[in-house]
Amino acid sequence: MADDCPVFDGLYDFCSMYTGASLEGAVKLNHNCCDIAINWSGGLHHAKKFEASGFCYVNDIVIAILEMLKYHPRVLYIDIDIHHGDGVQEAFYLTDRVMTVSFHKYGNYFFPGTGDMFEIGHESGRYYSVNVPLKEGIDDASYNQVFKPVIEAVMEYYRPTAIVLQCGADSLSGDRLGCFSLSTKGHGECVSFTKKFGVPLLVVGGGGYTPRNVARCWAYETGLLVDTDMPVEIPYNTEYFQYFAPDFSLHPEVITRQENGNSRQYLEAIVKHVYDNLRMVQHAPSVQMQDVPLDGCTIDDQENELDPDSRLHLSEEDKRVEPDNEFYDGEKDNDKAEDNDVTSSTNRN
Ligand SMILES: [Zn+2]
Repeated sequence: MADDCPVFDGLYDFCSMYTGASLEGAVKLNHNCCDIAINWSGGLHHAKKFEASGFCYVNDIVIAILEMLKYHPRVLYIDIDIHHGDGVQEAFYLTDRVMTVSFHKYGNYFFPGTGDMFEIGHESGRYYSVNVPLKEGIDDASYNQVFKPVIEAVMEYYRPTAIVLQCGADSLSGDRLGCFSLSTKGHGECVSFTKKFGVPLLVVGGGGYTPRNVARCWAYETGLLVDTDMPVEIPYNTEYFQYFAPDFSLHPEVITRQENGNSRQYLEAIVKHVYDNLRMVQHAPSVQMQDVPLDGCTIDDQENELDPDSRLHLSEEDKRVEPDNEFYDGEKDNDKAEDNDVTSSTNRN
């Protein structure tokens, strides 16, 4: 274990919980229990098979993707953490079953030091690793100038049947370790854009070292993923409310500490490079028939856990969908005593 991955009390439980959550998300997606699964505690993309690295002990993303590969021929991994998603790239460097696409700061010995645009994969995995190395200070407009065309092209060429999106929040402006200038809205735009393709999606967290901004970013992105408009003002009864001073807003002001080092020409050159490589991917790879291993975990059968003394549990009530042609209670009720004549009963049929 390196200096940045100390052993601490409860480490085993910590790893089990965040990895188990990503794994369960993958299993639920595999069985069509949901369209989008979210695990903000996951996304520890630096961990390697034999090495903990960069605050990451177990690579929950790799484990979740391996689970998804039992049911999906092609999984796309997208990484918008400021650091290169080296652990995930390494795990799938030699295969065409997973395409990894990482957008990250590169250069000046920035951690972990890998992820230049010439790392494209090897053997069967050649052209299935995509790297977008960026310079410090990138803003929303520049980021979207590369993110959207790259992901659009990847979707077109690779045609993934499932996507894992790592949403590291250290790419936000004002991060303690980061040096990008993204706003929560700019970061969230990547989430909305990915969701738009309507492919089964596992969303995980990742880095983020200014906690108040991480909380805002992932709260906002949860709203985007569940199609809910969130109020901009943070509710005053929020725990840790005082941490969100002075603006108490979901969208803190963008603090630009560094000039945007990414010129339009530089970004255009990267996009062109990615296009050229994707053109080498002749068609989306398929998979031969093979034995599918058992699921990595079982989905909890909530029915068994319900309190037998309570008549209708909230989760059961939530599952209940009233058909449009159901009789009403209240104003539209056709069954009121005074209406209960021949005409209303014919209406009912
Ligand atoms: Zn990071």
